[in-house]
Amino acid sequence: MEVISAPGADPRQWLVAYLRTRARLASLASDFQCDPDCSRPGCKNLDLLVQVSILDLLGLAGRLKEPVATVYRRYCSLGLFPDGRTDLIRMVGMKLQRPCPFLENDLCGIYPVRPLPCILFPEYLGAEGKLAATAKEEHFRDYLCLHRPLLLSPERAGIMARLKQMWARETLFTSIYLFGHGPCYLDFGNLARELQQRAKAGMAPEAAENPAPGTIPQSLLEGFFGEHLARLQPFAGVAAKIETLDNREAREQLLRLFQDNLWFKKHKQSRDERALVFQFVKGKLKATRRSLLPREYTFY
Ligand code: SF4
Repeated sequence: MEVISAPGADPRQWLVAYLRTRARLASLASDFQCDPDCSRPGCKNLDLLVQVSILDLLGLAGRLKEPVATVYRRYCSLGLFPDGRTDLIRMVGMKLQRPCPFLENDLCGIYPVRPLPCILFPEYLGAEGKLAATAKEEHFRDYLCLHRPLLLSPERAGIMARLKQMWARETLFTSIYLFGHGPCYLDFGNLARELQQRAKAGMAPEAAENPAPGTIPQSLLEGFFGEHLARLQPFAGVAAKIETLDNREAREQLLRLFQDNLWFKKHKQSRDERALVFQFVKGKLKATRRSLLPREYTFY
């Protein structure tokens, strides 16, 4: 971790400096500007999943001057992220409520501390060569910024890479803090038939007669998670863990740990190679550590 404020600085000051650095990098050497005619389809989208980290949550609490637990309860929850996958595996993480509660008169009401995924969009698509393909997706039809050239200087591309590194560190840390492990996934593969029947039951009669093969709506997975899985560990303990962050000592300890490069080195493997994957079997969550390379999971 690079030095953002003086070593040994008060953790609260360190957090302020860290979030300021993020906000500065958000626009440094960038030619991107939101189109004035943009109707903010992303921020208004009911399907939008904005992942947030513990650092985002602390930044929000500071900005809104509310306890961390209140901010979590009011504006966030656990969510299931497809994470680029097309199968029935979802990553579990914290997300903003939908539609985003911070859009005010088409402006972001928390702009200086907006979550990193909001900062990264849409430039990271350009940096990763995904802009053209994303623009073609039906979901992004109304995103004006995806339908015009997006130029990234080499300097800006380097800054995007740095922001993505910060995000990787924040998400790994958040997952370990909330769930006691690096990335945590739910594998709904063993429930595919039951979920497909539920999906069919919820469809309009014409669609149910001829359902698209293998499609299970995200909303149905989220509903199943809320109904059956969120009350089981490790997910059931999340709200209580977040509550501890209203204790100053616990918060300072957490921020010191976040700056500890040795701690990250130790946990890096759980991010890169082995994820914790849960399946819901006979009313219980069973976990296995396994690789989630896409090729192993193309059969659903
Ligand atoms: S936090 Fe701000 S930028 Fe992000 S979705 Fe909400 S309003 Fe939009």
